[in-house]
Amino acid sequence: MALKKLVAGNWKMHGLSSDLAEIKAIADASGAYPGVDVALCVPAILIERASRAVPGFAIGGQDVHFAEKGAHTGCVSAQMLLDAGAVLTIVGHSERRDAQRESDAEVKSKAEAALSCGLQVILCIGESLEVREAGNAVETVIAQLAASLPAQSGGRLSVAYEPIWAIGTGKVPTVEEIGEMHAAIRRKLEDAFGQEGGDVRILYGGSVKASNAGEIFAVPDVDGALVGGASLKAADFIPIVGAAAESRPVEGARAIA
Ligand code: PEP
Repeated sequence: MALKKLVAGNWKMHGLSSDLAEIKAIADASGAYPGVDVALCVPAILIERASRAVPGFAIGGQDVHFAEKGAHTGCVSAQMLLDAGAVLTIVGHSERRDAQRESDAEVKSKAEAALSCGLQVILCIGESLEVREAGNAVETVIAQLAASLPAQSGGRLSVAYEPIWAIGTGKVPTVEEIGEMHAAIRRKLEDAFGQEGGDVRILYGGSVKASNAGEIFAVPDVDGALVGGASLKAADFIPIVGAAAESRPVEGARAIA
């Protein structure tokens, strides 16, 4: 059975108080697509104001610390995200794996901390261009997934396949490459979680825009998208949500809210 699609925006280090109006515009326009789950992962400092501005709309963080509390200057715990009004968080984005040298083990701990607090989690994985060109993309990504996966999905886990070379570049893998990777991810999730592995949404991320969203969403086992640049403006983001709504019937679909 098809899973209800999730289209999540990652605002990265973009967003000031003056952008709350854009968040509201996105939340309001998303209301026209009840068959799609829509979320925005905003800078930590905006979470509370955003979640107050758009009650009922899913606001998330972009990272979380694995510890409950303690001497971790500049970090944010899962409980703090929840307290601010977040319902989800990204973990393991390639920009953090790279710039903050986050290991798979750390990403796994972050996912487990967030899930155990009741947050939904989007766990990011993806290969470099070098790995893709060497023909090792699937085995590399599956090894990364195996090492980053939380012990349990908790019914609140999504995995985002984001080839690093496709993020913010305008380059996108072929639909065959996306299909091959998502099928391999699904097999790994079912190995790890049994039947529950079939309920984990697998998002594609990397230069998704209105013009390519329809064909990407038509690929089997693509259960949504993680969108960076095109999530900053309702005019760019909402057509992607619309493409998700049109891509496959969701009647009777399992929603993981
Ligand atoms: C991302 O950073 O998660 C991302 C997918 O970015 P973009 O859509 O801009 O490629």
